[in-house]
Amino acid sequence: MTGALNAPAPTPAAAPVLGSVCVYCASSVTANPAYIAAAEQFGALLAKDGVRLVYGGGGIGLMGACARGAYRAGGKVLGIMPAFLQDRERVYDEVETMIVDSMHERKMIMFEEADAFAVLPGGIGTLEEVVELMSWRRLELHRKPIVFLSPDGFWDPLFRLIDHTIEQNLTPSWFNSTWASVETPRELLPAMRALLQSGPQSNPAATELT
Ligand code: AMP
Repeated sequence: MTGALNAPAPTPAAAPVLGSVCVYCASSVTANPAYIAAAEQFGALLAKDGVRLVYGGGGIGLMGACARGAYRAGGKVLGIMPAFLQDRERVYDEVETMIVDSMHERKMIMFEEADAFAVLPGGIGTLEEVVELMSWRRLELHRKPIVFLSPDGFWDPLFRLIDHTIEQNLTPSWFNSTWASVETPRELLPAMRALLQSGPQSNPAATELT
């Protein structure tokens, strides 16, 4: 018998685990009630799946709804709140909350604590957070799945802008395989898992800039 025949069969690589999901979403209390309900539903779905919610720590808007949904369904939640925003965004006291010094610190901890990101409808703050996350993905600083919840085509204008930068040869076309968009909360976790399992979608020549 040859050594090769005696060699143990290679074990298939285990799929990465989805332990924590970071949610970016609106803090506004005047958001479409359907979006607030979707955020709450997604929180509950995370809890049901045993996935921890990582979020900005607020008790209002879609943020608060998502945290309430997760907490009430028995899920784990970690909120990260800059001290200066504690009152304005009404820290959700029922869950574990880290109080930090700055927006940068909040954003970095949210990033580090999560295995994947859900982007729900939001305003300029949500936009700021997701564009940075996508730019880090484009630079291959991470390979964590990014999935938008885009009811009624909410995020379509952003997707069109990204496509426009691709058509202008300013963003590489492979970039569009690094994120996904779905229409209902139920589709978010399966889309994240599909991105995790499809393995690294990346620059074919990692050293090239485009
Ligand atoms: P908005 O979509 O404008 O309601 O903002 C959603 C959340 O993002 C709010 O909790 C904001 O405090 C937060 N946010 C806005 N800009 C930043 C930033 N630069 N870093 C971290 N969090 C931010």
